[in-house]
Amino acid sequence: MSDAKIRLYVEHPLAQGQAVPLNANQTHYLFSVMRLTQDDSVLLFNGYDGEWRATVKQSSKRSGILICAEQTRPLQLPPDLWLLFAPIKRIRTNFIIEKATELGVSHIIPVQTRYTNSDRVRQDRLQAHAVEASEQCGGTYVPKVSDLQQLDQLLATWQANRRILWCDETLTNTRTRLDTKDQTPWAILIGPEGGFSADEAKRLRATPQITPISLGPRILRADTAAVAALTLWQSTLGDW
Ligand code: SAH
Repeated sequence: MSDAKIRLYVEHPLAQGQAVPLNANQTHYLFSVMRLTQDDSVLLFNGYDGEWRATVKQSSKRSGILICAEQTRPLQLPPDLWLLFAPIKRIRTNFIIEKATELGVSHIIPVQTRYTNSDRVRQDRLQAHAVEASEQCGGTYVPKVSDLQQLDQLLATWQANRRILWCDETLTNTRTRLDTKDQTPWAILIGPEGGFSADEAKRLRATPQITPISLGPRILRADTAAVAALTLWQSTLGDW
């Protein structure tokens, strides 16, 4: 294999001639699963140095070293868009992380609301899903995935200039148009399967940074709503 189809995220600086040591998982994947050998190429990215073609310099059962040959793509950051969502069943939560990474967000924050089913998330696993999604979609950036945060605490310390596009399923017949010249940073907020409680809805409505929005006359599942809202935002205000 020399045509460098494999993309790998590494936590290591990348630059011309830079040696990149592989960890046990990467070693196993490249040499046992993908059967790469000396001088084969791999594409590497680390989230800040762009994408680099690297070649296998040393390989053994337990370790390996790659050497960066040339930059194949500069770093391309997604828009400064955050996704706040209430975690749902594991498989659907993973789907949200994967799709948000592909569609382009800078930060993903799982939020705990009154009707959120889970009271903890495996942040490390969710982050690993974001890494995998970036590897497969050609991204050079990996969105940061935070640990679960309480909605009220998040709102209490919310920065003044970041607006929140609140996907509010009670607004089924209202049309909101976003101002396409808007330059402020945004976050999209998606609720849990049970929706928001009356108190939460009141709190959200009273938050000055909030813009409530309808995603049409049908109630979407949270994972569908996340994809729809990100698509809408990206095509109106983002980098599409
Ligand atoms: N339990 C609620 C549905 C929640 S759907 C009910 O049956 O009424 C999960 C989340 O997806 C919602 O909190 C909202 O953020 C988003 N969503 C789903 N459909 C939507 C729509 N038509 N407009 C705006 N947001 C929607």
